[in-house]
Amino acid sequence: MRYVDVILPLPLEGLFTYSLPDGLQVEAGARVLVPLAKTKKYVALAVRVHDQRPDFDVRPIEEVLDAKPIVTSRQIALWQWIADYYLSPIGEVYNAALPLGLKVRDGYRPKTETFVTLPPSMRSERMLHIALDMLSRSPKQQKAFTTFLDMVFSSRDLSYECEGVSRDELMNTAHCTSAIVKQLIDKKFLTTYQKEVSRINAPLTSHLSPLSSHLSPLSPAQQDAYNSIVLQWMSKPVVLLHGVTSSGKTEIYIHLIQQAIERGEQVLYLLPEIALTVQMRERLQRVFGSRLGIYHSKYSDAERVEIWHKQLSANPYDIILGARSAVFLPFQRLGLVIVDEEHETSFKQQDPAPRYHARSVALVLARQFGAKTLLGTATPSAETYYNASPHLHPVLTPGESSSTPPSCEGRVQAGGGPKYGYVALTQRYQDIELPEIQIVDIKDLKRRKMMSGVFSPTLLVAMRQAFERHEQVILFQNRRGFAPMIECPTCGWVPHCTNCDVSLTYHKALNMLTCHYCGFTHRVPDRCPNCESEDLRGRGFGTEKIEDQLLELFPDIRVARMDLDSTRSRQAYERIINDFSNHRTDVLVGTQMVTKGLDFDNVSVVGILNADAMLNMPDFRAYEVAFTMMAQVAGRAGRKHRRGLVLLQTKNPDHEIVRQLVANDVKGFYQNLMEERQAFRYPPFSRLVYVYLKHRDEQLLNTAAIEMASRLRQLFSTRVLGPDKPAVARVKTLFIRKIVLKLELSLNVVQVRQCLREVQRQLLADKRYNALQVYYDVDPL
Ligand code: ADP
Ligand code: ZN
Ligand code: ZN
Repeated sequence: MRYVDVILPLPLEGLFTYSLPDGLQVEAGARVLVPLAKTKKYVALAVRVHDQRPDFDVRPIEEVLDAKPIVTSRQIALWQWIADYYLSPIGEVYNAALPLGLKVRDGYRPKTETFVTLPPSMRSERMLHIALDMLSRSPKQQKAFTTFLDMVFSSRDLSYECEGVSRDELMNTAHCTSAIVKQLIDKKFLTTYQKEVSRINAPLTSHLSPLSSHLSPLSPAQQDAYNSIVLQWMSKPVVLLHGVTSSGKTEIYIHLIQQAIERGEQVLYLLPEIALTVQMRERLQRVFGSRLGIYHSKYSDAERVEIWHKQLSANPYDIILGARSAVFLPFQRLGLVIVDEEHETSFKQQDPAPRYHARSVALVLARQFGAKTLLGTATPSAETYYNASPHLHPVLTPGESSSTPPSCEGRVQAGGGPKYGYVALTQRYQDIELPEIQIVDIKDLKRRKMMSGVFSPTLLVAMRQAFERHEQVILFQNRRGFAPMIECPTCGWVPHCTNCDVSLTYHKALNMLTCHYCGFTHRVPDRCPNCESEDLRGRGFGTEKIEDQLLELFPDIRVARMDLDSTRSRQAYERIINDFSNHRTDVLVGTQMVTKGLDFDNVSVVGILNADAMLNMPDFRAYEVAFTMMAQVAGRAGRKHRRGLVLLQTKNPDHEIVRQLVANDVKGFYQNLMEERQAFRYPPFSRLVYVYLKHRDEQLLNTAAIEMASRLRQLFSTRVLGPDKPAVARVKTLFIRKIVLKLELSLNVVQVRQCLREVQRQLLADKRYNALQVYYDVDPL
């Protein structure tokens, strides 16, 4: 009898064994249909075929779905690394890695796609609210419906002439099943139509002519950096390219990609944000044409399945440009991995599991192939700086470098010296000066009542001048603490989510309140439920509110907003960026997203509306994040023709970070950062693991968390902190507690993980804790 070990697409640890009926053939990496429990059937992935009879009853595989593997052995090894390193069940890695269409039995029909839209009867605000009220008893349907509304009404104008969205994309964005969408259709809240979908990634120009004819020559400084990268790769597989904003890092990548392709290698080019792939796609397609494939979660499922198959075929894409999920694609001859904007925190997946960092996974992927890796940024993360800095000499204990699963970060080379190569590029392309950063002390201005909303007089003057010269402006507002909400000015009442410990976000355009954690939606009440006052007001400076203030001050300008809410769909991202690039809009107002490596050539003024929210975050990464974000957004100013101006509004003009920014004192900043992290034993000088516990019953959760912490203390003593309530201590009706583990780099990673698993097993053996959820965040951000 033959047996097959499979991964099930469920949050379960380990592999499951089934027998292989006579006459069936299966290879590792092929999908199989297997039964589970009484009636369930799953599309599982075969990972090992053997003849060792397990000592329990096994059930037979029902069907083999693939004649040839659809997942390579390297991919399975990578999943295993992720599962081990991030303490995440392998079934969850499988779920994250494979596009939906490969996990369902029927496969996909790529030619036409089902789109959903509002039927004509629903196209009024009144009807939408009636629908949302009716759905309040079916949270999943309601969430799907609001997600749909967010996707189609991403701009402020409520135009009911909207195009629909693809059903797949809706399901992906709302994390819902087709059954949920069908219920909405049955209720006549949505309707479907079939739409021909274009072929995947149809290139702007399709050619396979000699690549070099489309390359721009490198400047002497770029050429030096290029040479230095190639030289350092000879001894170190990972190199950091630390190049100021607009120094032309991308041009260097393009030259390196061209070389790799000429050697017959494949390239993976990772960007932190889907928004950025839009611009980069155009730049790369100009050179590489149809050799380039794009892959990220905003592509429809059918497209992703098609790319997956293409990467397994005899004719795969030479370059894959993608956001973090692109690390899960199959590669055949990967030779180069580029992680652009490597400092970006959005490379880390927060929820759901696996909570992986795409930079770390990319490094492991590259190592599997012996490929070279280039990490590029103007503001390296503390981790990467540490790994690449020749000035730091952390202590390495013997045995550390040989531990498996191999940790990829926070280490030095076994032979001493920094683990990564380091190449600096300090000049902007064509020697354009870095922008001038001016501080605007808004504390004083506020006292003297000289602010117009969020705008200082200095910023207003600079904007007015920019508009007169037909130049563009970027306004940056950190999201944290500034989500717009409704408040009763009479009694102070603020609406809260019934499922989570958060206040609800106010969407002015839809006149709705939504919860960013569970998606729950409420309509704005007519009067305060607390004091009956009818005068409810919006509060906070969400990007919508900034946009309103801006239009009051400059009625003729065209404003685009880029934040999580306005960019739910791929089309929305692309439209906002293209409109701004082509100067169809004058001001781009946004959160974190506008700080990322977008390249606009007509932006002369950047306004950082309030630096303080970032500096005051209660987190050891606050300064790193603040410096990085502000330096990045500043870098969007004055890129092509002349020096740009950055106005930094703050109540703390003497803050050290503010001074370092203005003086462009990058060295000083990193030196302080490293000293501080070392003194307080924070990463990269230690490793953090957060342990989360969740339960519906707060009392029980407290008991469990205290018990877990004390069990952990027996093993890890003072390395254990907590339990504590996290900032948001209840989500989707579950209460949450958090325990922090702060571990020396010298501890053996494998043993630490074994201990954690064992403690969890012991705790969950207690019947009281049946419904307790325990999960981990390794290297949390
Ligand atoms: P970075 O990625 O370092 O921020 P970019 O690669 O986006 O910088 O370059 C900034 C701008 O300068 C871009 O518009 C780019 O087209 C231009 N540029 C950079 N290097 C070259 C080059 N060698 N030839 C022509 N244009 C270049
Ligand atoms: Zn009130
Ligand atoms: Zn909620």
